[in-house]
Amino acid sequence: MNIIKAIITSVILFFLYGDCFAQISTTLWDIKKVDHFIIYSRGASSEYVDKVARNAERDYVDIAHDLGFSGLNEFWTWDKRIKIYLFDTKLAYQKAIGAPDWSAGSVSFNKREIYAYVDMDNFFDTVLPHELGHIIFREFVGFNKKLPLWLDEGVASYMERTRRHERIILSKMLMRHAEFMTIDILSKMIRGKILMPEIFYAESLSIVDYLLQTFGKDKFVEFCRRIRDLKPGQTWELALRETYKFKGLSELNHGWEEYLENMPFTESTPKLN
Ligand SMILES: [Zn+2]
Repeated sequence: MNIIKAIITSVILFFLYGDCFAQISTTLWDIKKVDHFIIYSRGASSEYVDKVARNAERDYVDIAHDLGFSGLNEFWTWDKRIKIYLFDTKLAYQKAIGAPDWSAGSVSFNKREIYAYVDMDNFFDTVLPHELGHIIFREFVGFNKKLPLWLDEGVASYMERTRRHERIILSKMLMRHAEFMTIDILSKMIRGKILMPEIFYAESLSIVDYLLQTFGKDKFVEFCRRIRDLKPGQTWELALRETYKFKGLSELNHGWEEYLENMPFTESTPKLN
């Protein structure tokens, strides 16, 4: 089997996240407060809740570091702690959130809330850093700014560190295949209607990787500030042009493809048939 097809089909339905608008009562929960989080849990051992708190605080530091936000005055304040709701069972989570069976965690960006359940698969490696990435990025640029889905999902997926490299290499491998999507195509994707989700997430994060690795974190912070400071009627592409001097999306696409093209395969990378 062609290795690209094998990768795509094995993981195609796994990463689908959405903004969630659940109304959850905050009574009858065990509550633990730490620096940047309040963890509401039901039926979780104190060891598990401690583990969630430790991982969340570590992810917070890592995400701020990766995006260049660490130490910035405008980043974060004490009254905006993120709430993490841990339901006791998958069923209770699905009922409360209205989440479909395949849902791997949900988030409400503007309420700064993450919903999950105890012992959720991949919670620490992927779900938690992904959802925190969404909230932290939007906290900085503004929850009401209109951005392409690939930028939101690219930043959030970039925070799944354990899968970052393989997805960047997947994007590079895809360039030789018909499934590869240019930024023009990626930009047409809307939440809930993503074609080939695993390819979408992999390529989106590799664009964020391109921006961070090629131009550095200071430029990325400048890009985020320009997005945050956009006036009504101005689009995010103005922030892109002013920060990176791209004339438009096609120039961004060209730079990104060249970056992928020139990226070496590492020894551990599977080769195409
Ligand atoms: Zn997401």
